[in-house]
Amino acid sequence: MTEEPLPAAPEPETGGDPACWANRVCPACGAFNETPGTATCPTCGRNFGDLLDE
Ligand SMILES: [Zn+2]
Repeated sequence: MTEEPLPAAPEPETGGDPACWANRVCPACGAFNETPGTATCPTCGRNFGDLLDE
């Protein structure tokens, strides 16, 4: 019986790539949309896709 211990790899801090979450931040009110796939700002109701195309 061989048990392989799970590698305790620390997750790298993400924050150096704004392009990663740029499409999640509402350009209208600045609210951060944590829900992937949501194209509408839950705060102000602004459509992200409408602004991204600009
Ligand atoms: Zn908004």
